[in-house]
Amino acid sequence: MRSWWSLGEGSGQPGSELALYQIECPFCTEKGNFKLAFHAEKKKPNGSKKLNFDTYECGSCAGYVQVLWSGSGFSGSHGLHSYRVQPFPIGKPEPSEKWPETISRFWVQAHENETNENWDAAAVMARSALQAALRNQEAEGKNLKEEIDDLLHKGILPKVMKEWADELRLLGNESAHPRDISNPPAEKDVHAVINFLDYLLLYLFDLPTQIQEYRKRKAAKEKE
Ligand SMILES: [Zn+2]
Repeated sequence: MRSWWSLGEGSGQPGSELALYQIECPFCTEKGNFKLAFHAEKKKPNGSKKLNFDTYECGSCAGYVQVLWSGSGFSGSHGLHSYRVQPFPIGKPEPSEKWPETISRFWVQAHENETNENWDAAAVMARSALQAALRNQEAEGKNLKEEIDDLLHKGILPKVMKEWADELRLLGNESAHPRDISNPPAEKDVHAVINFLDYLLLYLFDLPTQIQEYRKRKAAKEKE
């Protein structure tokens, strides 16, 4: 965008009014539940273009967002508008599109629980993501420990990945099968195993596709 005056011109959302239903509260993640708390606008000198400066209050958590938005000159079905919101939601986990569906599902829940400081749930979901990833790689065994060992022996997991996988397995087990006296996992430990999980998925699913794409580009260049 070259200037704020081009906001909503040429590209944006359909409709000339703000698509408030799409805006997510950065504090409680509820979408579109907002009440206008403040409105101001600035008109372009000698034109009809208008920038809207709105502040909305979230009906769910009473947080505020500021929305700068503007519609194109057209109304109705030809209309377009675009907006910028601050603060925006932080740390919303986006799985790689290269990961199988089941793994992504557990991975998202691991990260969401980490963000919301539900340490037990985060550890258990990370463990499930790990197991789903290993089974996708055709790991064999009657439990996760054996599946990890199997992939080490098949050369699919390097030794350091095997060691981290064991630590993640143990941390997840503690929360999945609590004993009488059992503390929640330490925050630091949950961050560490989820960090490992991210590397593992990158290693198992992204790197193999990325090397293929890299070589395809190289081969295409050599043909030229
Ligand atoms: Zn909210």
